Amino acid sequence: MKQLTSMLVIALVCASVAFAASPSPDVKPATTTKESSKFKAGGCCDKADKKGEKCQHPCCVKAAADGKVCEKCNAPAKK
Ligand SMILES: [Zn+2]
Ligand SMILES: [Zn+2]
Repeated sequence: MKQLTSMLVIALVCASVAFAASPSPDVKPATTTKESSKFKAGGCCDKADKKGEKCQHPCCVKAAADGKVCEKCNAPAKK
């Protein structure tokens, strides 16, 4: 019985060591996943968003109400 107890202790120690050695799946790699803004950089909505506000342009407010971003103000730069 005493041997069984010591075996159990060894097993527990091994398990805890293995647990400590293996990286926890909850710990994500420290990647700097910077949340890319859905607004066009430097745009009216982007500036307002950085201030923690919402763009007050009527076109942008309307788009935001539809759960979108104003395509007119946040269209990717072309040409
Ligand atoms: Zn805007
Ligand atoms: Zn707009």
